[in-house]
Amino acid sequence: MPTPILTIRNLSAIFQNENGGLHALDNITFNVRAREFVCVLGPSGSGKTTLLRILAGLIPLTSGSFTFGHGEQPSIGMVFQQATLMPWRTVTENIKLPLEVKKIYEATARKKANEMVELVGLQGFEDSLPRDLSGGMAQRVAIARALIHDPDLLLLDEPFASLDALTRERMWTELSRIWQARQKTVIMVTHSINESLFLADRVLVLTQRPGKIKMDMAVDLPRPRNDDIRYTSHFGKLARKLRAAIE
Ligand code: ADP
Ligand code: MG
Repeated sequence: MPTPILTIRNLSAIFQNENGGLHALDNITFNVRAREFVCVLGPSGSGKTTLLRILAGLIPLTSGSFTFGHGEQPSIGMVFQQATLMPWRTVTENIKLPLEVKKIYEATARKKANEMVELVGLQGFEDSLPRDLSGGMAQRVAIARALIHDPDLLLLDEPFASLDALTRERMWTELSRIWQARQKTVIMVTHSINESLFLADRVLVLTQRPGKIKMDMAVDLPRPRNDDIRYTSHFGKLARKLRAAIE
């Protein structure tokens, strides 16, 4: 069994307010292994976004700890619910933004951006502006932007929540393919049981606030997964287990 690249121990988060603090996460403990795809499922307000923001180093934790494999902060790519693209920049210019920030040589950045355009299937839209993209295409730009600096860990916060059902299902296949091609470790927050079962190796279910881990379930469905898997009895059995844990 590969060693964990992320170890989270008794992590709690309390936001200070006038009523003595809002308890968002309580005593969260789990490990993530290299190249594992973990989904976090839970009701609104259970602290899912807070967990990702803590892991990304955007906000502090209140108690407990999290440590990465070799003790160093890994590089992280993050994708939010909305694509948050810069409206005046083209697809390619949005995708290569992280490399510009790192002051990577322009020709290198452009070459990498072109590779990413291909990876997420946006050939022909390199020079389009965000306003001319569909929701699914904009999210693919956001995923490409998150992957371009080859992060060790990809954090996805309900990246497909604003998409229609069909586009969303197409994005699952895309993301699965990208995850397998790039061998990334992924933690993805979602509201959708089907989405988590289609994508994940493991699903964590959080309780209502303060979020605690209610279930840590392995998804032992064969890969590659396609649409048909959703109609198998094992898929149905896992879905029922998750549904029961959420309620
Ligand atoms: P989820 O993503 O599961 O819907 P969040 O992590 O966004 O939940 O929020 C968990 C709880 O923490 C909510 O009650 C939310 O209002 C609160 N919260 C989130 N961020 C902050 C903040 N920066 N300051 C105060 N309260 C916050
Ligand atoms: Mg959230």
